[in-house]
Amino acid sequence: MEQFVNRDSVEDLKKRIVNCIKILNEEGVFELTYGHISCRIPNSDKFLILGHLHESNKNLFDVTEEDIVTMDIEGETLPGEVEAPGERFIHTEVYKRRPEVEAIVHCHPILSTSFSISGVPIMPVNNLGTIFAPEVPIHDYSGQVDTAEKAAAMAETLGNRMAVVLRSHGATIVGSSVEKAALNTLALEHTAKMQLIAHQVGTPRPIPVEETDGIFSEGTKEREYYDTAWDFYSRKYQNHLLKL
Ligand SMILES: [Zn+2]
Repeated sequence: MEQFVNRDSVEDLKKRIVNCIKILNEEGVFELTYGHISCRIPNSDKFLILGHLHESNKNLFDVTEEDIVTMDIEGETLPGEVEAPGERFIHTEVYKRRPEVEAIVHCHPILSTSFSISGVPIMPVNNLGTIFAPEVPIHDYSGQVDTAEKAAAMAETLGNRMAVVLRSHGATIVGSSVEKAALNTLALEHTAKMQLIAHQVGTPRPIPVEETDGIFSEGTKEREYYDTAWDFYSRKYQNHLLKL
């Protein structure tokens, strides 16, 4: 984690968001061009978020620092900047309720979303999945979350968890840095994949709640995981990423 914890100027944060977008895009968790990432600007009440790309005819492959805009807690961007996405309230309402959350991903990952269609929660079926224990809540609303009221309801379903799946729509995942939010997004899809495979060969047996704490808790194991995972993905896509 040392490679990015101290790089939190606005310009560096914009590059970090772009790099996370590129990794998630290459890993296939974005549906077509839909999805956005935001993070808090330290020591302020503002946020950085991917602007509404469709206004500039760009897609996620084209994203640069210039596409990252500054948003306030009401979802308004600075004069002259493109608007934040229509579902910007997902971000504002979670930030209002979760002071420890530094970054948020909203996307439409195919496996995680599929579980919500069947009403089956994603469970901690593997060690990494224990970050979602005891389960990933399903928000029973499949429309666009394009008002503060709708987003507040989703944030209530999220509660203090790491992720929430929106029925037949997508997922919202949080983290204590933009890289962790991105890695948690990949972990969610990975866990869903493993649960799906386990279901094909038998009845999945999630890791019991009393065993989840010691497997992947705050401390060395968590730090090692995020460091290793970030190193893996940033090497895998090194030719796509902006230099920090
Ligand atoms: Zn969406």
